[in-house]
Amino acid sequence: MRFQVLEGIPAIRRIRAELRRAGATVALVPTMGALHDGHLSLVHRARAEADRVLVSVYVNPLQFGPDEDLEQYPRDLDRDADLLETAGADVLWTVSDAEMYPTGYATHVTVHGSLADGLCGARRPGHFQGVTTVVTKLFNLVQPDLAVFGQKDLQQATILCHMVEDLNLPVRMIVAPTVREPDGLALSSRNAYLQPPEREAATALYRGLCAARDRLASGERDVEELRGTVRAASAGSPLVDWEYIELVHRADLTPQSGRARLPLAIVVAARVGNARLIDNIVVPEP
Ligand code: AMP
Repeated sequence: MRFQVLEGIPAIRRIRAELRRAGATVALVPTMGALHDGHLSLVHRARAEADRVLVSVYVNPLQFGPDEDLEQYPRDLDRDADLLETAGADVLWTVSDAEMYPTGYATHVTVHGSLADGLCGARRPGHFQGVTTVVTKLFNLVQPDLAVFGQKDLQQATILCHMVEDLNLPVRMIVAPTVREPDGLALSSRNAYLQPPEREAATALYRGLCAARDRLASGERDVEELRGTVRAASAGSPLVDWEYIELVHRADLTPQSGRARLPLAIVVAARVGNARLIDNIVVPEP
């Protein structure tokens, strides 16, 4: 199949029907574009798991708060198309806001409870509802056999897996490892907002996560001590403004206190310049 760039709902319905007739399995990789090697690693994983790989590029307004970066969010569809063709995707699909949310649009999908209310959910009201709503719509439009998400957005991936199970959606969920820069910074479209000194300071997130993981490995179990270890990675740098540093239970991402219990995830969010960055490490490694 030749790589295609498609736009709009009728086009995706048409290609989906064609692929069904051909008996091909379909993987979906949902993205907001401004693609980097993290996204492309999801495409490679999808390629290994399904006959056809479809990548959606849609900057979903529903998941941005009123004071967030919807307008500035980087967009470069031609570059995205080149990268996806080289990575072996079959289809890049885009859709307009008017088609996704026409006037009178009124339906939202919400995962309730501590999983969605904590961590980023507490700091970005409505964000995860925007994500679960758009992903449900993407699943209904593309009807993929499987979908690939990044562990980089651990809370998002966990919420989406929960939603798929709760709603019996017939989609196999795959969560793929975080791709990092050589110095450990997790790739993110928002890294483009970092000025050089901020880019340097941003390495504190992964350095802090690794330091806490290493102390866990050598037997430290005091949650406050381990949180302090992460925080210490930015010592001396006023550029890193931590939003949260938590050790959470792996299954439901609720914060731990007292003695740390495995399996767990160390999850962080910080503002560095104009960027809000998140990262995590799961212990033991998945
Ligand atoms: P986004 O375009 O930022 O909404 O991300 C689209 C998908 O790519 C999500 O499933 C993210 O978790 C995933 N992703 C983003 N950054 C990375 C990364 N550095 N490594 C692996 N996956 C990533």
